[in-house]
Amino acid sequence: MIKEHVKCLIIGSGPAGYTAAIYAARADLKPMMYVGLQPGGQLMETTEVENFPGYPDGIQGPEMMIQLRAQAERFGTDIRDGLATEAFLNETPKRIIIEDKAEITADTVIISTGASAKWLGLESEERLKSGGVSACAVCDGFFYREQDVVVVGAGDSACEEAMYLAKLCNKVTLLVRKSEFRASKIMAHRTMNTENIEVLFNHETVEVLGETVVEGVKIKNNITNQEATLEATGFFLAIGHKPNTDIFKGQLDMDEVGYLDVKPGTTNTNIEGVYAAGDCADKTYRQAVTAAGTGCMAALDAERFLAQLEH
Ligand code: NDP
Repeated sequence: MIKEHVKCLIIGSGPAGYTAAIYAARADLKPMMYVGLQPGGQLMETTEVENFPGYPDGIQGPEMMIQLRAQAERFGTDIRDGLATEAFLNETPKRIIIEDKAEITADTVIISTGASAKWLGLESEERLKSGGVSACAVCDGFFYREQDVVVVGAGDSACEEAMYLAKLCNKVTLLVRKSEFRASKIMAHRTMNTENIEVLFNHETVEVLGETVVEGVKIKNNITNQEATLEATGFFLAIGHKPNTDIFKGQLDMDEVGYLDVKPGTTNTNIEGVYAAGDCADKTYRQAVTAAGTGCMAALDAERFLAQLEH
């Protein structure tokens, strides 16, 4: 097992991690990054990104991540394959285990491990992920203007996504698996009162229809077992996200779902020298540009902490 020490270790490689790497490398912190299970993060699963500033013609998600990686490497970030599997953040220096490959000690650690959208787990859903199945209405809704779409979920996210899509689309059908919303009353009320949203309670997805693009959704009433087919070109999941923070449990403060707590206005966690950026600490915005913003903040916070240590 390799043993190395670095000033700044970045765990995770989405827009937050790469932006932290660009700033940390330019500040001469000589950052090392472990890219994790899905190098590039959630954007590797999206198609066109049209809302990241600086790309007037849009850019494919994977291409943007390749560019961010190249930018981080240009300033000397040591980018490595591997998944952080254990963390000892209360030690000095902090110690991170990378599978059975490496044991890295670090003066500062930037956590940018992201969050993973939850999926239903259907074969058809997986197959059509780049053909109309999405877990982000803000990212992809624009492509379904004046079309019919289906949203699955019953929480605040589902209501928010359904209402967002209702402004763009012809019709939104919201599939709620129980007989009631989990969302707050006000969100549920607004959703129910949006003219072009139809809420189908006690309905589940049987299959997303279509070979290469979504053409419809086969649904089932889970009380009567009656099946039906909805015509739709977009299928949006809003059944929650899971932040990738399990290895920090018991060390870092987090909410009940696992989103890391940071001191407002900073990326400081409850442990000095450990910073959290991007979706692993953000259940509200979850955008590439906000992740990049907090990645920048984390590198600046780390740099200031190291400067204090040195003086
Ligand atoms: P939630 O965990 O609140 O809700 C997830 C929903 O998905 C539940 O209603 C659940 O159904 C449903 N669900 C889970 N699995 C399945 C499945 N396999 N099939 C069908 N439905 C399924 O997640 P959200 O992302 O909505 O919200 C996360 C947090 O963020 C919440 O605290 C929320 O309040 C907050 N938030 C606030 C917003 C705001 O205030 N503007 C906007 C967005 C989020 P069931 O109820 O049957 O378990």
